[in-house]
Amino acid sequence: MTMLTLKNYVGGEWFAATGGLETALSAITGEPVAQLGSQGVDFAAAVKYARTVGGPALRKMTFHERAAMLKALATAIIARKEELYALSAHTGATRIDGWIDIEGGSGTLSAYAARGKKELPDGVLLLDGPVEPLSKGGTFVGQHVFTSLQGVAVHINAFNFPVWGMLEKLAPTLLAGVPAIVKPASATAYVTEACFRIMLESGALPPGAVQLVTGSAGDLLDHLRTQDVVSFTGSAATAQKLQSHPVIARESVRFVAERDSLNATVLGPDAAPGTPEFDLFVKEVVREMTVKAGQKCTAIRRTFVPAAHMDAVQEAIVARLAKVKVGDPGVEGVTMGALVSERQVKDVRKAISELAQEARIVFGDPEKAPEGAPAKGFFMSPVLLRCDEPWKATVVHEREAFGPVSTLMPYQDLADAVKLCERGQGSLVMSLFTCDPAVATEVIVGAAAWHGRVLIVDRDCAKESTGHGSPLPGLVHGGPGRAGGGEELGGIRSVHHYMQRTALQGSPRMLSAIGQRWMPGAPVKDGVHPFRKTFGELALGDEVITAERTISLEDIEKFAHFTGDTFYAHMDEEAAKANPFFGGRVAHGYLILSFAAGLFVDPAPGPVLANFGLDELRFVKPAKPGDSIKVRLVAKQKKARNKEYGEVRWDALVTNQNGETVATYELLTMNAM
Ligand code: NAP
Repeated sequence: MTMLTLKNYVGGEWFAATGGLETALSAITGEPVAQLGSQGVDFAAAVKYARTVGGPALRKMTFHERAAMLKALATAIIARKEELYALSAHTGATRIDGWIDIEGGSGTLSAYAARGKKELPDGVLLLDGPVEPLSKGGTFVGQHVFTSLQGVAVHINAFNFPVWGMLEKLAPTLLAGVPAIVKPASATAYVTEACFRIMLESGALPPGAVQLVTGSAGDLLDHLRTQDVVSFTGSAATAQKLQSHPVIARESVRFVAERDSLNATVLGPDAAPGTPEFDLFVKEVVREMTVKAGQKCTAIRRTFVPAAHMDAVQEAIVARLAKVKVGDPGVEGVTMGALVSERQVKDVRKAISELAQEARIVFGDPEKAPEGAPAKGFFMSPVLLRCDEPWKATVVHEREAFGPVSTLMPYQDLADAVKLCERGQGSLVMSLFTCDPAVATEVIVGAAAWHGRVLIVDRDCAKESTGHGSPLPGLVHGGPGRAGGGEELGGIRSVHHYMQRTALQGSPRMLSAIGQRWMPGAPVKDGVHPFRKTFGELALGDEVITAERTISLEDIEKFAHFTGDTFYAHMDEEAAKANPFFGGRVAHGYLILSFAAGLFVDPAPGPVLANFGLDELRFVKPAKPGDSIKVRLVAKQKKARNKEYGEVRWDALVTNQNGETVATYELLTMNAM
C-alpha cells in the first residue's frame, strides 16, 4: 500500500501540515501506512469557525432534520465500508474487530437517527419533565428545557476504535445541534480520516459541523470557553493532564472522561464446572482477551472465581487459549490480530512484567512472537496470569495491560468477590455468570455503584447476549472513579451532555407557546370540532367539551357481561361496600374510557386516521350509577411522522356532574396532514 499523507480539515478546507510529520506503521507488516501532523493549523480559527458557522447552521435544523443527517451519514459509511475495512486491517484488526468498529459505528449513528426521530420533537427545544406547579392560582408555573450549547465539542479519541470512537461521540453531539472538532489518536488516524472524508463527501453535513485534526491537538484547549465541551477517551494519565488544564477549570468547560478501567468478571458460586454458566464464563473470558487483541477499554482484566474452582477454570481457559491463532487477519483461520503499534507491544510487555511480580503466567509468552505471525508486525500471544492471593496484591487491581491479558484470582465468598471488584476503584463494566437471582442481587447491591454497566449472564440470555465488552447505543457507557466518571451513549441521555438545562418560569400561556406543549391554564379555543382539522390546521389548545352522559346500573351490567369483567366492585353491592375505595358498586374504568370516546369522537371519516394509545391514565374518582360524566379534550402536542401524517397528543379530562375529576389521560391519535 502506498503511504497516505493525512490532512487536517479545518475552517471548511483540507489543510496539509507545514512540517513535523509523524508516521503511523502497519501493525501487520511494520511498514509505514500514513504520515500525519497538525503543524500550522490555526486552532483559534478552527474553534471560531465551529462557533460562528457550524453552530448556527446546526441550530437552525430541527432535531428531526439532524436525525435525518445522521441517517444519511450512516448510509454513506455503509456504502463505502470496504474502503474502511481495508485500512482497518493495518491497525491489526480482524474482520470481526473491524465490524465492531465500522458497522458498530455506523449502527450507532443509525440508532441515534431513529431515537432522534422517535423520541425528540421536530423543533429545536427539548422539554425536560412535567410542568412544575408554582402558584395556588395556576398562573405561574415552571418547566425545564434543554437548548443546544453554543460552543464547540472537542472530541479526543483513543486509538482502538478509530471509527466507532468518532461516531459514538458525533451522534449525540450533532443531534444536540453542536459542531465538533475531532482529534483521533495518531496511531490509527488514517482510518478515522477515511471515514471522515466519506461523511464530508456525503454532502449531508452543513458547513462547520465537523472538523478534523489528524496530528497533535496543539493549543486547541487554550481557546475553549464556557459553552464548549471536551469529550475525552484514553488513558487515565492523559485524562488527568487535560482535565487539569487551566482553561478547563477557569471556564468550567464540561469535561467528559472515558478512561481506562480494570474491569472484572465473576463466576458465581453456583456456576460449578459442568453448568452452562461455567462454560459461558470460560468462553467470554477468552473472547474478551482476544477480540481486538484485548485492546478494549471494556475488556476483562480481572477474572474472579470461587477458590474451589480455580484449577478447573484455569484448565478450561488455557485449553481454549491454546486454540487461538494469532497472525495476519487477512490469513484464513486467524482468530486474533496484532497490537496497534510497537509502543503498544512494549507497554503491554512492561505491564505484564509488573503484574508478574504478584501473579504467575500460566499461559502465553509475552516476549516471544507467536508462531506463524509475520515477523515485522506487532503480534503478541494472549497471556493469562494467576494470582492466588488477591488481597496481598495491588498491581493486579491497578495496572492496566491494554492487550490480550487477564489475571485469574480466587474469591472466598460472595462478599469477598464484591470487595475484590471494588478494588478496581470504579470500572466501565463488570460481568457476573450465575443462574441464581439471589447471587445476582447480592452482587448488584454491593458492586453496581462501582460500575457503569453490569452484565449478568445465565443460560437464558447467553445466546442473545451482546457480551461483556460491547457498549450499546441505548445503554450508558462510562464508569465512576478510575474509569473517568464520565457517561456516554445511553440513548438520548448523551444528547443532554451537549445541551444546557434551564428552568423556565412564567405563565402557562407563555411556557406552552415556547415549549410547543399545551398545559392547563394556557388558552383554549372552541369552535370546529378538532377531529375535523388536519394535522396542519390543528392548533395547540384546540378544544372540544362534550355533552354529559349519565351512567346507569344497567350500563354497568351490560358492560360487565359483554366484556366478561364481572369484578365484584361492579357487580356486588355488599362486597363493593366493604371495599375501602368504593362504598358501593362503581362503573368500570374501561366503561368510563369507552363512554368518553363515545362522547368526544366525531364519527365521520376525516383527518383522524387512528387512535394508537393512551398515556398517563389515572382513574381519580369512581363513577357510580347515576353519575353523569363529560370530557374535555385539548390538543396538547403535535409531532410529524412523515409527509402524510403526524402524531397528536390530546389532554383528556373526564369530570362528573360536580366538576370533580373522574379520570385523566393523554390520548394519542395519528392525523393526516
Ligand atoms: P492516550 O495515549 O491517553 O491517548 C488518547 C488520546 O489523547 C489520543 O487521541 C492522544 O493523541 C490524545 N492526547 C494525548 N496527549 C494529549 C495532549 N496533551 N493534548 C491533547 N490530546 C492528547 O490513550 P490511547 O493509547 O490512545 O488509548 C488507550 C487507552 O485508552 C487505554 O488506557 C484504554 O483503557 C483507554 N480507553 C478508554 C475507553 C473508554 O471508553 N473508557 C475507550 C478506549 C480506550 P495522540 O495519539 O496523538 O497522542
